[in-house]
Amino acid sequence: MPVAVGHRYHLGSMAPNLRPPKGTDDILAPDSRVWRRVLRTWDDWSERFGYDLVMTPIFEATDLFERGVGESTEVVRKQMYTFTDRGERSITLRPENTASVVRAYLNAGIQGEWKGAYSGPQFRYERPQGGRRRQFWQVGVEHLGTDRPGADAEVIELGYRFLVDLGVEGVSVQLNSLGDPEDRTAYVAELRSWLEARAADLSPDARETLKVNPMRVLDSKADAELISEAPAPSERLGQGASAAFDEVRTRLDAVGVPYETTPRLVRGLDYYTRTAFEYVGTSLDTAQTALGGGGRYDGLADQIGGRSVPGVGLAMGIDRIILSLGETDAEVALDAFVVATAGRDIDAAGLVSRLRSAGVRVDSIDTSRSLKAQFKAADRSGAATTLVVGDEWDGGAVRAKRMADGNETDVRIEEIATWLRS
Ligand code: AMP
Repeated sequence: MPVAVGHRYHLGSMAPNLRPPKGTDDILAPDSRVWRRVLRTWDDWSERFGYDLVMTPIFEATDLFERGVGESTEVVRKQMYTFTDRGERSITLRPENTASVVRAYLNAGIQGEWKGAYSGPQFRYERPQGGRRRQFWQVGVEHLGTDRPGADAEVIELGYRFLVDLGVEGVSVQLNSLGDPEDRTAYVAELRSWLEARAADLSPDARETLKVNPMRVLDSKADAELISEAPAPSERLGQGASAAFDEVRTRLDAVGVPYETTPRLVRGLDYYTRTAFEYVGTSLDTAQTALGGGGRYDGLADQIGGRSVPGVGLAMGIDRIILSLGETDAEVALDAFVVATAGRDIDAAGLVSRLRSAGVRVDSIDTSRSLKAQFKAADRSGAATTLVVGDEWDGGAVRAKRMADGNETDVRIEEIATWLRS
């Protein structure tokens, strides 16, 4: 039985048959404390920006992702967890959440503007490494029913505020515009001939990608040097997309979100139009610097079989964000730990209950055990204060011990919650 609060009882995989599947993780304390903080921070910021919670199934009809993510994408071609269920339907574990949220919006018959935030696991069959998992967690938002550039800027700002609040170092936004569909058709034709003329210098992977989707070749890390010379989508914008791109930048400047215009940034999924962006931090190695990203996808709703509804959104990778935070032990799960002298068992239980009701994070172990054992557990818990239920209790007080320096004071029972907060 795992005992004692805050104890590290995972000592590494003991037996191969107890390991989670390849590319997935069990997340326990102390790591899970960071997860709690990150997910709470996300709830907080997405609420502050006016996004309601939206929850969609973890699996969907395969066809939704084929149409919504795009058949030429890496995700659909190689990474989906697809199976036939007992009713002979082709089902896929969601590899991302945007297509599902747009489907849910259409299915609910919502008209006009709508803002939803999600949080949950996604599944992609990838080659696992640090920050690249087969089950990973994304938080994100979708703002549907408007093509105002102000909505793009707001989405970008939300992600930025969230990362900065978490303490991610060196957060910056890379920003681009992929243009409207008609700009894109002309641009892709130009890019295809440019790349085909240089096919001999491309990596074998990029040559394959060129056949299905020339724009995605711009993503190829192996061909970075050649690609830096290629025509960029943002250099071929029509009037509408160009004005929108300018407005997004003006609005980001106005609210103080720093960004860098990145002419060859394209995103891995097929559905982006106009704005595309990524968040990068400085503390991850180069392979996985992208902590999140997103963009505008005015054609997506139509593509998955609904009506035409513009939208913009972002998705952040929580596994990667947590890796970039580095620290795990700094997180404290408890405000106080309660220990009791002999015979004070029930009094201690009463105190614990009362403090919890007052909003204090508090725990104890079996208070009939020796004080020594209880103090040891208190120490391990990381709680800043240990409350000792002893003789002072009869006079309406407990002794409070500050764990950092051993300083002790008596505090009136009815004042403890306030005292702990101060
Ligand atoms: P995407 O949905 O591909 O636009 O990715 C958005 C964000 O999700 C990325 O920037 C990553 O932070 C995260 N992400 C995507 N794929 C994975 C993965 N296999 N493992 C961990 N995080 C991922």
